[in-house]
Amino acid sequence: MSTPMLQFVRVPQQTPDKREGTARRADFREIYTEFDAARARAQASRCSQCGVPFCQLHCPLQNNIPDWLKLAAEGRLEEAYEVSSATNSFPEICGRICPQDRLCEGNCVIEKGFDSVTIGAVERFITDTAFDRGWVTPPLPRAENGMSVGIVGAGPGGLAAAGELRRHGYAVHVYDRYDRVGGLMIYGIPDFKLEKRLVQRRQRLLEQAGIVFHPGTDIGRDLTLADLRARHGAVLLATGVYRARALGGPGAGLAGIVPALGYLTAANRRLLGDRVAEFESGALDAAGREVLVIGGGDTAMDCVRTAVRQGARSVTCLYRRDRANMPGSLREVANAEEEGVAFRWLSAPEAFLGDMAVTGVRAVRMQLGQPDASGRQGVEPVEGSHFTLPASLVITALGFDAEDLPVAFGEPALAVTRRGTLAIDPVSFMTSLPGVFAAGDIVRGASLVVWAIRDGRDAAAQIHTYMQQIAEAAVAAE
Ligand code: FAD
Ligand code: SF4
Ligand code: SF4
Repeated sequence: MSTPMLQFVRVPQQTPDKREGTARRADFREIYTEFDAARARAQASRCSQCGVPFCQLHCPLQNNIPDWLKLAAEGRLEEAYEVSSATNSFPEICGRICPQDRLCEGNCVIEKGFDSVTIGAVERFITDTAFDRGWVTPPLPRAENGMSVGIVGAGPGGLAAAGELRRHGYAVHVYDRYDRVGGLMIYGIPDFKLEKRLVQRRQRLLEQAGIVFHPGTDIGRDLTLADLRARHGAVLLATGVYRARALGGPGAGLAGIVPALGYLTAANRRLLGDRVAEFESGALDAAGREVLVIGGGDTAMDCVRTAVRQGARSVTCLYRRDRANMPGSLREVANAEEEGVAFRWLSAPEAFLGDMAVTGVRAVRMQLGQPDASGRQGVEPVEGSHFTLPASLVITALGFDAEDLPVAFGEPALAVTRRGTLAIDPVSFMTSLPGVFAAGDIVRGASLVVWAIRDGRDAAAQIHTYMQQIAEAAVAAE
């Protein structure tokens, strides 16, 4: 078959169709529609098959992007799926929620002048097709190896590791304090970015492979880490970071000021059919309220867009830097604006107004200052620039830190970094406790799903090496 590549000069970039902003406000369904086969082929054929593919270098999984684009352009979708799934445990999820503008697509060489190849959308199309046609199978082992691994945390890091270890023949047990599998993919990220049925479909495949889930099991409370070390040959900690950074200032303790993750978890639970007391009482329901979200990251964007869908009277995002310096994806800002969210850039809260419950926020204008050692510009208030915004629900999205992990796990010898995340050996992924490994946000700090997948896969490879060494040593000692 002749290769129809290098079409970027002739074929313009087309992203998947997006539903209209007004229609999107009415439900929580994903906002992008799927490519059809012809468009996926045409878009994949725009790739110029670079000798040094910068897209691949900037993908945390080092996905073999040029190869699966070429196979997709040739209509060889089953092979494209084989190549794409060889390095990515959940390509249909990454295709939807990776910030491609900062990773693969932002580094596509034809971006300059011709608009990048729509890598994420093609990756999603390939894997969705693979699911439709039954090519996606559970990660079954060829043979059991008689050894077991315990994984704490059923987020993307823990699940990616679970799949890899099961393939090697380990009995894999995944413990999670939540009642559902998926970590932030189930209770953090809203449906309009990632529908929950996709996470549940992955869970079913892992269960079919024989992986055993223990939901509702908090390690540190229901079982100790020492219990798990006695049960399993190795333990992987993939528990993420959940301690919300607090907001200070006068009035910060008023009713109606809530942390982002509690708000999003309640919204996600409700969509999953749970009864959520704080939602039913109105405490975490934005309907009819003037909502103010403080923060400029992806979590803040998820909050503003959730509030819009819940029927808020108005939704405003307050961020102390400008649009160009916000940590979140610019694509998500554009989506939020289309859905009716107002942004107050270069603005920071100073005080929260109200008697018992919040009624407004006094804010101040900020200006960008000199760059610090990291190159990031600092911010300082503009004198005399105060203003007041009405608000009956304030959602704080200022980022997350790790808990006090040695205390939480009852292991004083568990070493942590200055940021409180788990310290690991960068090659072996092992913590300061022998046989205990760690991966994902609990090591990196709040990051991305794609990085958690990468870490989970790498940690699984290191656990396999460790377990083989233990087995060989046991044989030698006999
Ligand atoms: P998590 O996904 O946090 O999973 C950790 C799991 O461990 C949880 O299920 C938790 O219940 C469990 N756990 C914790 N402590 C214990 C314990 N003691 N015992 C038992 N279980 C425990 N990334 C993207 O790439 N794209 C996005 O669009 C995106 N949007 C986001 C939106 C929001 C609102 C948030 C908060 C994050 C978002 N992220 C996004 C980041 C991404 O979700 C995380 O980086 C990723 O989920 C980290 O994976 P993880 O496996 O390390 O941890
Ligand atoms: Fe791009 Fe993410 Fe897919 Fe890598 S995993 S190719 S960064 S969308
Ligand atoms: Fe294709 Fe762009 Fe990657 Fe080059 S950088 S291989 S053009 S997707």
